[in-house]
Amino acid sequence: MTPVTATKPDTSLVRRARKVDRVLAETYPDARCELDFDDPFQLLVVTVLSAQTTDKRVNAVRPTLFAAYPDAKAMAAADRATLEGIVGPLGFFRAKTESLLRLSAALVEDHGGEVPGRLVDLVKLPGVGRKTANVVLGNAFDVPGITVDTHFGRLARRLGWTEETDPVKVEHAVGALFPKRDWTMLSHHLIWHGRRRCHSQKPACGACPVAQWCPSFGAGPTDPEAAAKLVKTEGRA
Ligand code: SF4
Repeated sequence: MTPVTATKPDTSLVRRARKVDRVLAETYPDARCELDFDDPFQLLVVTVLSAQTTDKRVNAVRPTLFAAYPDAKAMAAADRATLEGIVGPLGFFRAKTESLLRLSAALVEDHGGEVPGRLVDLVKLPGVGRKTANVVLGNAFDVPGITVDTHFGRLARRLGWTEETDPVKVEHAVGALFPKRDWTMLSHHLIWHGRRRCHSQKPACGACPVAQWCPSFGAGPTDPEAAAKLVKTEGRA
């Protein structure tokens, strides 16, 4: 396991980072997990399915998927072709079906069909990495977790919170700037900001509520009118 960053972050960086999070919380009061789910099993499955596709598409197949397979036991016994047909609209249907079959079989064999509530157990499940595990912990178990997806990593670097590129190192560096209880919502705030304004190409700097605390201001258009056109609507990304 990668060691936790030993150096203590300087107080001005902590202050700046927390200010940014507060402003993002005000800007995106609806920030939350954009995947629909009713229980930890559903969240685990939809998070695995969301790789290489949009949350919107995953949300669209969710009702059919869980009507057919409401729990790990049912999914582990699924007919492969039927499951492939259900996840087909998400692309990579063979690989996704294989992932779901292996994942649900492991839940049944090792955890009595339940989703474990500890990082150490979650990351041992087939196809479940640290990012997925933290999504499940933070949103289904109320265990604080930092989700370093592509948006989170990019924003943490643009905001000058870390220079790390390895997701685990980013997780530790950013985690050191915030109290643990804020980790899950911080993840939602950064991801929402990344999806709506701070895009990887052409961030909407001129329409950014945290521009004054961002050392990367100017990475995208600073003209307010040009920037406003880049802002994605408040709906689901
Ligand atoms: S100022 Fe630009 S680069 Fe910085 S957070 Fe805002 S949109 Fe992103």
